[in-house]
Amino acid sequence: MSQESHVLVVFPHPDDEAFGVSGTIASFTTQGTPVTYMCLTLGEMGRNLGNPPFTTREGLPKIRKQELQEAAKAMGISDLRMMGLRDKTIEFEDEEKLIGMITDAVHELNPSLVISFYPGYSVHPDHDATGKAVVEALGRMPEESRPTLHAVAFSSNCIEDLGEPDIVNEVSAFQATKLAALRAHASQTQLMTADWEEKINQRDPEVLRRLNIETFWTYKWDNK
Ligand SMILES: [Zn+2]
Repeated sequence: MSQESHVLVVFPHPDDEAFGVSGTIASFTTQGTPVTYMCLTLGEMGRNLGNPPFTTREGLPKIRKQELQEAAKAMGISDLRMMGLRDKTIEFEDEEKLIGMITDAVHELNPSLVISFYPGYSVHPDHDATGKAVVEALGRMPEESRPTLHAVAFSSNCIEDLGEPDIVNEVSAFQATKLAALRAHASQTQLMTADWEEKINQRDPEVLRRLNIETFWTYKWDNK
């Protein structure tokens, strides 16, 4: 794992961090590296209200906020920023407003590493719009002060187009933390984590890979 002075994580939905990045985040916080997580929405359009339902559509943002706080605590994140944008509408936000939010955070925190989605390769329009704004904000900075960007991609064509990910973090030491972060987002992940727990006991290779390996593409600015 690289040595970083400060890591800034930018994702649109509570739980985006838990699936692909929570082991990596835990490895940084365990080393004492400060991690700031900017979560752009409260995922209030989330498809699940619990099973059996434990909230209503109106009650969901409050629940997801608590879940996000709990996940952040599990990962050792002391600086959680809930930006209050509307779920499922990031692609329709004023792009300059998004870029400004990210630019302000970068100027304030001076992170050595930023983690976000790879625009165009992250499946959900909110993911792609978030990644695009991060790339734009960092791309406008002078090269010498620009933090490294590790981008998460998972569309079916990502390896074909981007090649193999150059950052492969082995995070099996943080398996318990990753499971705790996933479990914290109970309204969305309850059924999945129950299924994973069973599969972990059965040493299911796919679930173990998703738990233990986190991959990123270092964003190449000259390809912009
Ligand atoms: Zn998401």
